[in-house]
Amino acid sequence: SKPIVAIVGRPNVGKSTFFNKIAGKRISIVEDTPGVTRDRIYAEAEWIGNTFTLIDTGGIEPFTKDIILHQMRAQAEIAIETADVIVFMVDGREGITAADYEVANMLRKANRPTLVVVNKIEGKSLENNAFEFYNLGLGEPITISAQQALGLGDLLDEIVALF
Ligand code: GDP
Ligand code: MG
Repeated sequence: SKPIVAIVGRPNVGKSTFFNKIAGKRISIVEDTPGVTRDRIYAEAEWIGNTFTLIDTGGIEPFTKDIILHQMRAQAEIAIETADVIVFMVDGREGITAADYEVANMLRKANRPTLVVVNKIEGKSLENNAFEFYNLGLGEPITISAQQALGLGDLLDEIVALF
């Protein structure tokens, strides 16, 4: 079956914006509960002959209203269990947060191919913001602007190289 790429990261880092830029055909996955679909979070995607399933873990609704950190842990666990490649998205304008470190620790221990993607980098003057994300201990940060579709081709090259 197709490789699975899961997007993980804090609320508002740009996961949905990225998902919508990359998503081709949406896949409706019908849950056991009648009427419940998760078609907003699964999509089929393709990059130079490589097809894969993309999951926006931010769209997975928690069963209870929980604090952000608990939600992120749950989303990261789902990604670790199901994904072949994890896109760990961070906000290049806000910098590293405690929740980012927490998720980074989980992903490091899981030892699953993971790319640190620094979003909201529009223009050269913001490129330097990416360096601090080396501190997450997950390798070289990749800069993109999901909104302006900058760096997406290079990122997709790196994703499919990990399949
Ligand atoms: P999510 O909560 O991680 O899914 O984040 P969203 O995709 O909903 O985006 C959160 C906010 O960040 C929205 O206001 C977006 O317009 C904005 N945003 C997303 N991507 C970018 C980007 O590349 N650059 C900038 N400047 N803003 C972005
Ligand atoms: Mg979202």
